[in-house]
Amino acid sequence: MLYLETATKCMKCEENNRTVTLAPCNHYVLCDSCATTVRECPYCQTPVQSQTSTSNVFCNGFVMRFNS
Ligand SMILES: [Zn+2]
Ligand SMILES: [Zn+2]
Repeated sequence: MLYLETATKCMKCEENNRTVTLAPCNHYVLCDSCATTVRECPYCQTPVQSQTSTSNVFCNGFVMRFNS
């Protein structure tokens, strides 16, 4: 959990900033380019059903959600 809370870089490439929230687990751990290559969340291994890119929707009032 410490890694998830403190890091801002993509969990897969550790190079780009995180921009994508995965559903249904709501983990915010991937960049746009890596999110298109994964079928399950790299953090909790939940199969990905959909992805939300925050790089495009932040200006529309999108609120990040995390599982507690
Ligand atoms: Zn990445
Ligand atoms: Zn997850």
